[in-house]
Amino acid sequence: MTQTVKETKVERIYNFSAGPAVLPLEVLEQVQRDLLSYPGAGMSVMEMSHRSAPFEGIIHTAEADLRTLLNIPANYKVLYLQGGASLQFSMIPMNFLPAGAEASYIISGVWAQTAYKEALKLGKARVAASTESENFTRVPTQNEIQIDPQDAYAHFTSNNTIYGTQSLVEPEVGDVSLLCDASSDILSRPLDITKYAMLYGGAQKNAGIAGTTLVIVREDLLARVPKNLPSMLDYRLMAEKESLFNTPSAFAIYVNGLVVKWLLSIGGLPEIERRNQEKAALLYAAIDASGGFYRGHSQLTSRSLMNVTFRLPSEELEKKFVKESTAIGLDGLKGHRSVGGLRASIYNAFPKEGVEALVAFMKDFQAKNG
Ligand SMILES: *Cc1c(COP(=O)(O)O)cnc(C)c1O
Repeated sequence: MTQTVKETKVERIYNFSAGPAVLPLEVLEQVQRDLLSYPGAGMSVMEMSHRSAPFEGIIHTAEADLRTLLNIPANYKVLYLQGGASLQFSMIPMNFLPAGAEASYIISGVWAQTAYKEALKLGKARVAASTESENFTRVPTQNEIQIDPQDAYAHFTSNNTIYGTQSLVEPEVGDVSLLCDASSDILSRPLDITKYAMLYGGAQKNAGIAGTTLVIVREDLLARVPKNLPSMLDYRLMAEKESLFNTPSAFAIYVNGLVVKWLLSIGGLPEIERRNQEKAALLYAAIDASGGFYRGHSQLTSRSLMNVTFRLPSEELEKKFVKESTAIGLDGLKGHRSVGGLRASIYNAFPKEGVEALVAFMKDFQAKNG
């Protein structure tokens, strides 16, 4: 059976959403080509069994490509789980925080705090450092972080999506297992995976669409998982079953695989890091050149390459900025309610032209309202 699909003219705006977020156009086009019939399968990915040969090909290729991209050592498992980063907040203490032990949490924002609060429901946890009293305008510095060699693990958030701050260097935690929520900067730059016991993130910001959560976990940690956890919450079981204990979020895994292939095709993580640095530099330069009209939320040392947060002289002007920018196709710039102001999320797939368009709009807006 063959069907002809009418060509439709599509118009895409610049999408600054913090998540779910912009995808590479090449990936969307591939999804469109595969949508009615995945090559060789005669059906869409949404319709196929997760035990079928085509889907096995999809998940195995996605994992192999991710291992190449991030240079993941053989003693790490890659899992595709559901429940978002938020479920990992609960699974981490269930799996890795034994009774009597204590975990430490570096609090650099609301997501970090949420992870910590979930741990408190399930065991003993401690704040290793916090910048809450400074409204999370920076990440904690190394000498503020208090790790106990006995800690079951130390948890941090590499990019604070809401505040626009980022830790470009991992905290030093000695021999303590370092766990990282990298939901909003995973795959944005090269990482030394061996520094991490576990790295995880929902796919919907930098790595695909909502529905699957990437978990990269060192094998020896899995030996700590207690017996008798509910199956769906047991990392060891998920690893044993290669993420196919139950029906996985198949379409989201497929899209993640395409995003990873796209990253490999453009030159891997060094190239995406270069692009991300270039885009962020354009925006921060515009903020810094505005003579105080635009004020960055983050302190200079913690500026995020992913989420650029800034304020205007008044809330009225901020409202006007959002309204007028949206009207010309610069969408999703309203800041998170806990920070206010504006937030431009410029993840991997966000094009440089969109950043240039925003910078031009900022200059124009200041000239008219400054
Ligand atoms: C978005 C986000 C989360 C929440 O992710 P879900 O997949 O919606 O659970 C957690 N941590 C960080 C840093 C985030 O940016």
